[in-house]
Amino acid sequence: MSVNLTPHIRTLRLKVKSESYPWLDAAAVEVNQVWNWANATSYKAARPFVGPAQWLSAYELDKLSSGATEYFPHIGSETIQRVNAEFATRRKQFKKAKLRWRVSRGAKRSLGWVPFKAAQLKRKGNALRFAGKAFRVFERERLESVTLKSGCFAQDAVGDWWLCVAVESVPVATEAPHPEVGLDLGLKDTVATSDGDKLKAGHFYRGIEDKIAQAQRRGHRRQAKRLHRTAARRRKDALHKYSRKIVDRYQTIVVGDVSSTQLAQTRMAKSVLDAGWGMLKTQLHYKGQSAGRGVHIVSERNTTRGCSSCGSLTGPSGLDSLAVRTWRCSACGDMHDRDVNAARNILSAWRCPTSVSGNESLSSVIAPSRAPRPRKARIRSRATAA
Ligand SMILES: [Zn+2]
Repeated sequence: MSVNLTPHIRTLRLKVKSESYPWLDAAAVEVNQVWNWANATSYKAARPFVGPAQWLSAYELDKLSSGATEYFPHIGSETIQRVNAEFATRRKQFKKAKLRWRVSRGAKRSLGWVPFKAAQLKRKGNALRFAGKAFRVFERERLESVTLKSGCFAQDAVGDWWLCVAVESVPVATEAPHPEVGLDLGLKDTVATSDGDKLKAGHFYRGIEDKIAQAQRRGHRRQAKRLHRTAARRRKDALHKYSRKIVDRYQTIVVGDVSSTQLAQTRMAKSVLDAGWGMLKTQLHYKGQSAGRGVHIVSERNTTRGCSSCGSLTGPSGLDSLAVRTWRCSACGDMHDRDVNAARNILSAWRCPTSVSGNESLSSVIAPSRAPRPRKARIRSRATAA
């Protein structure tokens, strides 16, 4: 098996400890001032009273803003340059002479943002150093054995600050204790492995749903936002732990290609979103890559119906039979757990090359929100109109 060991880059998002919030809040105001200066300057150049119009590049903005650091006690020239670069990119992207102002105060305040270059962020003991100040973050151990690239400090809707930094790591190929596994990404019981293991998704979101509704009813917007964030983080955390476990244990990982298009038309849509299979697949993909594992996606066709012992299509079929959890094969008499049986079939679909439709890119899976609407509804409405 060939192992791809080129370094790869991903983005880490770590929460900043609150002691640094006041500094970051102040730095964000300065960033807004730089952005608004770039906006005004570029607009003036693009729509001059006299003379030819000029479309300022990031380089030209840098030249014009040189020496500006003395007016900004928090941010340095590198951050100013990063703001200029970001502004120039956005302006080009939206093809506009002027972009929106960044607002520092009031209800329409922009969420804080302080970008930096790779060389600006340094490790120092248990902390990080940026712009002459020490920062502490949660989950600092995730920054170990990686090379820090550029990134930003970003504020979320709740008001907390996060360090978002691109990191480069060289994968360490290890041999997993078990050769292979098939994963069935289900709706209710969530993930089942071909070894009979199951991850209970635990309804990461649903438990909190009532609380969110309650908070919204009472007009506690901040609390609702906080609960939304908690739900998302719990889901992500559970998936991270699970994907790590799978990658540590198996050398080859085969995942079924969940047809979210079909499922989005049922009442299950919410559960599909809940379970966050896209997120799990992405995690398996990059964690697998960094450990030298093979991660494959195969078609889920007939994986529920087929008997994993004898191969005959004796199992439950269609969405109506989702309620069936266990069944007995009428051909060979074996008893099957619906999801574990499907996981076994997914694994054999990869083993048997004729049935493989794999190697689709992860992005080819259509998100439920973008799935085509069922045509039935249109036909029916036409029938009632006639
Ligand atoms: Zn059978």
